[in-house]
Amino acid sequence: MQEQEKMNVRVRFAPSPTGPLHIGGVRTALYNYLFAKKSGGTFILRVEDTDQNRYVEGAEQYIKDSLEWLGLVPDEGPGYGGEFGPYRQSERKGLYAQYAEELVVKGHAYYAFDTPEELAKMRSDQEALGFHSAKYDLRTRSMMRNSLTLSEDEVKQLKEKGENVIIRLKMPENEIVAFKDMVREDVQFNTNELDDKVILKADGMPTYHLANIVDDHLMEITHVIRGEEWLSSTAHHVLMYKFLDWTPPTFTHLPLILKPTGKGKLSKRDGAKFGFPVFPMEWDAGDEIYAGFKEDGYDAKALLNFLVLLGWNPGNDEEILSMDKMIEYFSLEKIVKSGARFDFEKANWFNQQYIMAKSDEELLSELMPFISHATKQNFDQIYLLKVVGLMKERLQKFTDFNDAANLFFEAPSTYDEKQVKKRYSSELDANFNTLKMLAEQSDFSSEQLSGAIKSYLNDNGLKMGVYLPLLRIMMCGSLTGPDLFDIMSLLGKDEVVSRWDKAIDAFGKLVEA
Ligand code: GLU
Repeated sequence: MQEQEKMNVRVRFAPSPTGPLHIGGVRTALYNYLFAKKSGGTFILRVEDTDQNRYVEGAEQYIKDSLEWLGLVPDEGPGYGGEFGPYRQSERKGLYAQYAEELVVKGHAYYAFDTPEELAKMRSDQEALGFHSAKYDLRTRSMMRNSLTLSEDEVKQLKEKGENVIIRLKMPENEIVAFKDMVREDVQFNTNELDDKVILKADGMPTYHLANIVDDHLMEITHVIRGEEWLSSTAHHVLMYKFLDWTPPTFTHLPLILKPTGKGKLSKRDGAKFGFPVFPMEWDAGDEIYAGFKEDGYDAKALLNFLVLLGWNPGNDEEILSMDKMIEYFSLEKIVKSGARFDFEKANWFNQQYIMAKSDEELLSELMPFISHATKQNFDQIYLLKVVGLMKERLQKFTDFNDAANLFFEAPSTYDEKQVKKRYSSELDANFNTLKMLAEQSDFSSEQLSGAIKSYLNDNGLKMGVYLPLLRIMMCGSLTGPDLFDIMSLLGKDEVVSRWDKAIDAFGKLVEA
């Protein structure tokens, strides 16, 4: 067993509440959760809300609701208890400055006082000299107003004045920062390429980088599992751990989730563009509502099954993976390097598999929120259960139910005109009358109905391919739906007769027209 599995594993999912949780974030949460459960460890939710400008009301609640809907319930986190809290960084703000100052004292960070105008000027001056996208770094810092270039007195005065006082990390010159990533293996950065990141802002709040490593340290996080976009920040993080004499956690950076076309990163706009959700739950952004898997009728477990395979595989052919199986098979070593294509058809396929595997009772209870009020009022549980039984194999999503099963709740109001014209003429009426009579005389079980109708057609040399499709159109309005005789049996004698009469009437009018 790997060493990490013997230690007390603590992982965190650390979203910033800047909007709804993107599906990539859900996958990050899932992998953290699976790794924690696999190792008997702890799954922590930490809310990284130090950037007040990007804070979005309701986003934290949305994140929690989504995790709970998916069953990825944190062991520790805001509202979940735990001894390492508070778990919201805004509630820990007094804690970070001391570490930034410690870094200054140790010579690994410095105060900077540049105004936004001065920073902009530096960038344009550098641009003019041919240095594109110039950064505040070991080349430019000597041209700026900071505690490395100003006298002690000046620094003291500027600090007292308190305008634009920030702390920046001081990148050492020409050093290799090397760390091991579970996916990317040996990663190296040269400090010459890294900027002097701000770690403490003018409002006294830490930036992501400082808060992130301080909290990972204080919360005794053993493994950081996060999106690939954070890989380059990791060099800064590893250096800060070193400067503070702390042991860094093990890093795992997850591959990107790509658009269905396989080209480019999946974005929040792709949902509307390609016609599928990219958020776990619906999110009202004010000017726009983003669709959610939950409201669009996806089963939470099917969604997790779909997501777990975006960037990881169990190393065998199994595709349908229960939560227990996912936990059993999960390992960081099996995460792949290349981006994973968001194949939406696959999400539908998984959902269908999960729907089919449910008992009728279970499926009905999950369908309840999607079934219209009128249907719930007009039809009892026993009837609904039978409808569910007949429709189970025909649903990809819970939301398909209302339309697909409507034939059980309402007589058709229109009929497939093309099909009717192709097959019907009033000469068939006499036979239809006999068939109706035979149906009425049967006990209305699917078998008896089928037996009575089919043997009459056979015995009289009448074409199944004419009468049966028409009969289906009488009952359903179109040629779709489950077995015709199952439908008739469930609708019951009165309803069948009434639909029959109404349809023959309508068919007559259609062919006359
Ligand atoms: N707050 C960061 C985010 O929103 C966390 C990144 C990390 O896990 O370190 O993704």
